[in-house]
Amino acid sequence: MATEPRVNPFAVAQSQFDRAAAKLNLKPDMRAILREPKRELIVHFPVEMRDGSLKTFTGYRVQHNLNRGPGKGGIRYSPDVTLDEVKALAMWMTWKCATVDIPFGGAKGGVICDPEALNDRELERLTRRYATEISAIIGPYIDIPAPDVNTGSREMAWIMDTYSMHNGYPIPGVITGKPIEIGGAVGRGSATADGVVICIEKAVEHLKMDIKGARVAVQGFGNAGQIAATLLHKMGAKIVAVSDTHGGIYSEAGFDPDSVLHYKQENAHEKRRGSVAGFPGTKDVSVANVLEVPCDILVPAAVENQITKRNAAHIQAKLIAEAANGPTTLEADDILFKRGITVIPDILANAGGVTVSYFEWVQ
Ligand code: NAD
Repeated sequence: MATEPRVNPFAVAQSQFDRAAAKLNLKPDMRAILREPKRELIVHFPVEMRDGSLKTFTGYRVQHNLNRGPGKGGIRYSPDVTLDEVKALAMWMTWKCATVDIPFGGAKGGVICDPEALNDRELERLTRRYATEISAIIGPYIDIPAPDVNTGSREMAWIMDTYSMHNGYPIPGVITGKPIEIGGAVGRGSATADGVVICIEKAVEHLKMDIKGARVAVQGFGNAGQIAATLLHKMGAKIVAVSDTHGGIYSEAGFDPDSVLHYKQENAHEKRRGSVAGFPGTKDVSVANVLEVPCDILVPAAVENQITKRNAAHIQAKLIAEAANGPTTLEADDILFKRGITVIPDILANAGGVTVSYFEWVQ
């Protein structure tokens, strides 16, 4: 995987902030406030495993800024979660909610765990215990979590139920991205990808490109990436490459992402989630190389720090739509800018998710 371990996402976020603050002539005292999160909660909690043993997990909830409204931001499950990653993601959420003028602040959460190594019962116990631990600082008017990498509507339902049990009555406003049956919003599932695609349509128009026949590569084949690939395919784009944590595929002729999704679901088994790798009629490429294949539009939709000074010079796309949060480092941004590659930044490109989350919360 191409991630450079030395790139600290929070250092990237702070450098991005410093650059914007200088352009805005922000006063030093204001810069000092906005450079750091308001609250950082670290929790360690036990979970009963399938063999009856107890395992202690570590989780975080960070609220970067609550001045525009309650904190908003997803919960990520991954072995790579760190406090600095969650701090960066919380800071980016503040900027994103302000960009689309939603009355929310910025927050984020995460648990260090490998969801592929946990069965459904273990994941439920972990989620409910984590929800209990962070319930001290979340709430419908304080901080409202949502899905992120490796969490979805099922985890949101567990969190809502746990929080509601502690209070004695249903509190759907504590979380968004819930199943429709318990107050979720129609369209929340595809909202992030919908927003990415709307931004791509506008950028393509501006750049005088044509979406029909445009070659598209997507890194990350989950909620954001897989749905974006399907929508772009339906609009006539040619999906030439996709990847997930287990590998990537490339075909000059393009393929139907729905068939790839079906293939991925078919090869899932109890110990491992399915993968796009090995899809018939395609060549295998590494997760990192998916970013460098010949294409017109690149959609990073996995995690941060994927486009770095090491690979920015090799990217062949004319347009990059950041579905993931923080996929491009500051040095890489400069290289792409000099090369005339247009980047739609994450805080705009993927803001469709939080926008529909706001509608769900209001409703
Ligand atoms: P997801 O768990 O549904 O999918 C993530 C995909 O990325 C999977 O295919 C996974 O295999 C791959 N992936 C995970 N870790 C990886 C790694 N280290 N290297 C390469 N690939 C990796 O998650 P998602 O909700 O689609 O989120 C993807 C990105 O979009 C994240 O950066 C997230 O913060 C951002 N985002 C998501 C939403 C949302 O509503 N879900 C909203 C805004 C932004």
